[in-house]
Amino acid sequence: LDEEELQEDEDLRPRPPVVTVMGHVDHGKTRLLDTIRRTNVIAREAGGITQRIGAYQVTVDLEGEPRKITFLDTPGHEAFTAMRARGAELTDVAILVVAADDGVMPQTVEAINHAQAAHVPIVVAVNKIDKPGANPDKVRGQLTEYGLVPEEYGGNTMFVDISAKQGTNVDKLLEAVLLTADAELDLRANPDMDARGATVEARLDKGRGAVATVLVQSGTLHIGDAIVAGTSYGRVRAMLDENGTAMKEATPSTPVQVLGLTSVPTAGDLFLVASDDRTARQIAEKRQATERAAQLAKRRKVVSLESLKEQFAKSEVDMLNIVIKGDSSGSVEALEDSLMKIEVSDEVGIQVIHRGVGAITQNDVNLATVDKAVIIGFNVRPNRQVADLAEREGVEIKYYSIIYKAIEDIEASLKGMLKPEFEEVVTSHSEIREIFRSSKFGNIAGVMVQDGEVKRGTKCRILRNGIATVNDLEISSLRRFKDDVTSVKEGYEAGINLGSFNDIEIGDIIETFEMQEVERK
Ligand code: GDP
Repeated sequence: LDEEELQEDEDLRPRPPVVTVMGHVDHGKTRLLDTIRRTNVIAREAGGITQRIGAYQVTVDLEGEPRKITFLDTPGHEAFTAMRARGAELTDVAILVVAADDGVMPQTVEAINHAQAAHVPIVVAVNKIDKPGANPDKVRGQLTEYGLVPEEYGGNTMFVDISAKQGTNVDKLLEAVLLTADAELDLRANPDMDARGATVEARLDKGRGAVATVLVQSGTLHIGDAIVAGTSYGRVRAMLDENGTAMKEATPSTPVQVLGLTSVPTAGDLFLVASDDRTARQIAEKRQATERAAQLAKRRKVVSLESLKEQFAKSEVDMLNIVIKGDSSGSVEALEDSLMKIEVSDEVGIQVIHRGVGAITQNDVNLATVDKAVIIGFNVRPNRQVADLAEREGVEIKYYSIIYKAIEDIEASLKGMLKPEFEEVVTSHSEIREIFRSSKFGNIAGVMVQDGEVKRGTKCRILRNGIATVNDLEISSLRRFKDDVTSVKEGYEAGINLGSFNDIEIGDIIETFEMQEVERK
């Protein structure tokens, strides 16, 4: 049954809007998310520390009514597009952060384009108004060119001047999000059905196994539900909110950490509740098979059967080993999560061999030496001695203070590790017209070269009635009359010997091919 059909109008209940924060790097997205997270009333009352689990909810008072807003805790349009690419349409409203001292920048425009392409309404947060060079009016003027016309200029986009740093007007921004959602969207879902939604982030926890933060989009998720997320499945063993509080159920727009999946899904993977464990497993296994087939098909396009077999035999993946040290467990975790999500190719991957909070130590350098790892220092440094040791050992230490930059850099390094990719190019076809049996050499095919040029030593296959029967042959000798030659062109006759391979028939076609390097995108 289609999801729409299940949603009878009277069953629909209002649900909170889900918000993504976008904007140019350094304009204050992370700072804003932190400030909003700290307004979380429940966490404050419980004296709890809100953890980064990929999404969180806050309660806002709008005209005397308590209203919730759900924030996706990965800023930027990269995460937004990556999720959409996997089918997850989570965001209802986008907050576009523009620094008032800097104005509209390239990623501001990208963010607008992405939000508009997804038909997601935008609320503009003009940030850093506490700074001396702040010019919020200029930002308003600039954004008008991109179709974001402030209400005060007669348009319908809400602009709020804020300081994420000082907390100024953040309450007004949250109100603007709710007002925009109320004015432009009909956010309702049926809570009385099996839950569906999407994975926001997931990782493997040493003690707890697969830990996935999911956002329920419709229905209600309960403890004990059998679920499938992408190609992972399991039974909901426990649910926790961002304050680490255990939950029994999660209603639409609620993010929860779910324990109990048997493997780690990917951010953006859709999840759904299945009728029972067996069904959940079957769905997951079917998806796994489909995914494998798709991957195989993808590779077939660019590589020949031979190299495909070779790749499977070796199944070699080059690993970039990384040691992460950071100033807080939150930043280390966030960085590791983001790094693990980088996907450049099937042939290269990232492995975080060690992580920790605090300065870079001798132990970190030793580990990196043994495993040939790169050390990433996120807002942390080594002392003089440790830096000297790293230099002597040839261990590279990279320093970052912005996750986004680290990711860009590592992604570039991974691309640098890629081996060239090859593509098969057919170079000739020759028809077998006679077969000479030689006791010394085995069968020799008397052929007419129909197109291209046959060269000695080239790889070839036999086509019989248009079907490739044997693929891994080689032109081991090539003759014109009695002479050994290195190549024979289209329109000429030749004698071809295929080494110890003798299973040829008159009418067979010998197709030669070469592997040529293709440029990667
Ligand atoms: P992001 O790259 O968009 O996530 O930007 P960040 O949140 O990391 O902020 C970049 C820098 O701007 C940090 O040093 C922040 O402390 C600073 N910043 C963010 N918001 C404000 C603000 O409202 N006022 C001032 N003065 N600085 C801010």
